[in-house]
Amino acid sequence: MINIVLFGKPGAGKGTQAEFLKGKYNLTHLSTGDIFRFNMKNDTALGQLAKSYIEQGDLVPDEVTIKMLEDEVAKNPDSKGFLFDGFPRTIAQAEALDVFLAGKDQSITATIALEADDEILVARLLERGKTSGRIDDQDEEKIRNRYQEYNEKTAPLMEYYTNQNKFYPVNGIGSIAEITERLSTVIESL
Ligand code: AMP
Repeated sequence: MINIVLFGKPGAGKGTQAEFLKGKYNLTHLSTGDIFRFNMKNDTALGQLAKSYIEQGDLVPDEVTIKMLEDEVAKNPDSKGFLFDGFPRTIAQAEALDVFLAGKDQSITATIALEADDEILVARLLERGKTSGRIDDQDEEKIRNRYQEYNEKTAPLMEYYTNQNKFYPVNGIGSIAEITERLSTVIESL
């Protein structure tokens, strides 16, 4: 069983790559952003709670996000492994995930990071915002806020996973197929 964290800044291509990798390696894809958006669309209590944070480009509070993620893992007891996309995004989330998986005699196998420069990614997100319908993709100020959240709260995870010898950076610039190939090379080396 392998559990992969797909890591990267907003717009790095995590969701796009996850779509290919989940089928190729028979992994359950869990995107916390997608789960939040599903809840917002269906106007659930969780969606209402998350909405103001997401629309401002702020992270949703840890306790809400961690509980949601654990519930999703629990809904997939027969999974052959998970592909975590957009989670963890804080040290507290990473620690909670380690404890949660350890309780199931599991662990994170690898954290694979898609790397790209901020300016390329901001332009990519603004372009995506024209069609994605995502409020947080449409306003440059909100996008910049997401990068600030990333730099302050998420970037420290690189050291967290490096210290566990689980951090694998990959060049995130190239065609979708090229990047899938780079990620596959890492996964097959695990
Ligand atoms: P994403 O689709 O991964 O870009 O996530 C969209 C938004 O959902 C983020 O900007 C956050 O507001 C929220 N979100 C997603 N994942 C998390 C997480 N692990 N922790 C806190 N907030 C999250």
